[in-house]
Amino acid sequence: MNLKEIKELSFIKEENGFIKIGAGTTFTEICNSSLLQENAVALVQACSKIGSTQIRNLGTVGGNVVTGSACADSVSAFTAFDSVAVLKSSKGSREVLIADFFTPIEIEDACASCKQSIVGIEKDEILVEVYFKKSEDNEFSAFRKLGKRRALAKSIMTVGMVVKLGEDEVVKSCSLALGAVGQHPYRVESAEKVIVGNKLDNATIEKCLEEVSDIVVQNIGARASCPFKKESVKGIVREVIESIRIQSLQ
Ligand SMILES: Cc1cc2nc3c(=O)[nH]c(=O)nc-3n(C[C@H](O)[C@H](O)[C@H](O)COP(=O)(O)OP(=O)(O)OC[C@H]3O[C@@H](n4cnc5c(N)ncnc54)[C@H](O)[C@@H]3O)c2cc1C
Repeated sequence: MNLKEIKELSFIKEENGFIKIGAGTTFTEICNSSLLQENAVALVQACSKIGSTQIRNLGTVGGNVVTGSACADSVSAFTAFDSVAVLKSSKGSREVLIADFFTPIEIEDACASCKQSIVGIEKDEILVEVYFKKSEDNEFSAFRKLGKRRALAKSIMTVGMVVKLGEDEVVKSCSLALGAVGQHPYRVESAEKVIVGNKLDNATIEKCLEEVSDIVVQNIGARASCPFKKESVKGIVREVIESIRIQSLQ
């Protein structure tokens, strides 16, 4: 069955303080949405880098999430936004945090940066929607992807981040998600803790970079890509934080 023909699965809307995106929504629709440009810069940036124009015109959020690839760009952005997946079957509907939607598989010889995860979807279910909280005042987000080319580049690494600043520029909350560093995107809570309660100054940023780098080593230490990724992640996270700092000044 081709779910792409189901028009009801294609929507982007705001409802009761949440941003809701239908599983049939294409990446191009996400990039063109002013609601998402205002509320989810990191998701728009993530989707704008997927594949090529043709892939973005056809590929959907549902396909990207349900494929369960470690390097699915929308998934690291959704993870940073603490998004929830809504699944439906003839038996009813249920909701799962995107962060809990994937279970790693133990396959030693799989491709290091893009192992597949088991996706937490039953045979009779479809993903209908992904939703997350509408952004609050002084909340900013950014996403960066490390790839070999400008287009049609599989992610070597992705970073999505959402930060809420207080009046005094002290970080009130922070969510930092890594993609393509392990079997599925995940949040780096130890690095988030370094940032919360502090200003985004150089000392805090340096501590955060060291923490993320340590997590990369913990999670993919045995892989050949680790020496490269543990260093390059610092540059990517730095760029993301810089983008957030610039947005906060505008
Ligand atoms: C050349 C190329 C480059 C690419 N580059 C990138 C990239 O840079 N970044 C990136 O993240 N991805 C990339 N991809 C992957 C691609 O974007 C995803 O595979 C795409 O998101 C799939 O979307 P789709 O709608 O075509 O899904 P489909 O291919 O139609 O579906 C994929 C799987 O998900 C299932 N599925 C789809 N929708 C649902 C639903 N609503 N509920 C339940 N199951 C569902 C299908 O049954 C199928 O098993 C690339 C792919 C290609 C071919």
